[in-house]
Amino acid sequence: MKLEADLHIHTTASGHGYSTIKEIVESASEKGLKMVAITDHGLQMPGAPHWYHFTNMISLPRVMQGVEVLRGVEANILDMQGNIDLSERMLSDYMDIVLAGFHDSVGYTGTSIDDNTQAMIAAIKNPYVHVITHPGNPKYPVNVEKVVVAAKKYNKALEINNSSFTVRPGSYTFCNQFAKMAKKYKVLVCINSDAHICYNVGENTNALALAVQAGIRKEQILNSSTHKISEFLVYHKQQSQQFAKAQ
Ligand SMILES: [Zn+2]
Ligand SMILES: [Zn+2]
Repeated sequence: MKLEADLHIHTTASGHGYSTIKEIVESASEKGLKMVAITDHGLQMPGAPHWYHFTNMISLPRVMQGVEVLRGVEANILDMQGNIDLSERMLSDYMDIVLAGFHDSVGYTGTSIDDNTQAMIAAIKNPYVHVITHPGNPKYPVNVEKVVVAAKKYNKALEINNSSFTVRPGSYTFCNQFAKMAKKYKVLVCINSDAHICYNVGENTNALALAVQAGIRKEQILNSSTHKISEFLVYHKQQSQQFAKAQ
């Protein structure tokens, strides 16, 4: 199975990424990807970009080397209320796609499965969030079924992160639980590289194998087609605009 997009990629702007956008799109183009999302870390991460990085993404071409480039962020889940570390205005006016996940050293204070589950579900409810990154990270265990049911209800995607198998030890078991539960509830999944260097862009071998083994079909994978991604983003743009109006 070939996926058309990689929606989780870091650049040098994250402080601990090693490639530029130019290097990333060149690699994506060589690998035949049609779309990438540039998703550097949110503001609370040590070494994260200044907020100008996100607002200035308007200066990026929409297509580079024949690859469509989405302007995004991998924001940090900050609390049990679903707050993330980019202002509402930046999320609504500058970002095409918003990923959110748990990370160390960003001020999140939850300590139990209940805390983490509540925080992750609140992030799913956040109208600006599209994808929850590495929900299978064993460092932040959650009630898998509750999270999957919430993702279904709010039409959000849950990520199976290819880097988790190397940089987040113990992820396989939880990722497998997520994949099986996602299959059961027919929840959208997003299979990403989480590349921090251009060579890993589009690398999804282990995550895709796990998803296929769990019975997840192409139609259920958000980034299997750019058409599916565009429809998904348009739907959520409308939802978030309605939310903003009602405020
Ligand atoms: Zn992450
Ligand atoms: Zn990441």
